[in-house]
Amino acid sequence: MIYYLYYLATKLLHQEVDFDVTGCAQHYCITCARYFVDMRSLKEHFKTKIHKKQ
Ligand SMILES: [Zn+2]
Repeated sequence: MIYYLYYLATKLLHQEVDFDVTGCAQHYCITCARYFVDMRSLKEHFKTKIHKKQ
């Protein structure tokens, strides 16, 4: 399951760069519909309760 989410997130890394969005829209959690500043923050987010509740 986590691998699947990671795969989705990786796919979404190929979004266009948007400087108005956190992390320029390059680090996105599809489950929570949230953007993160960098890959490290995104990976940490995957371990959090907030993410697992979704
Ligand atoms: Zn999430």
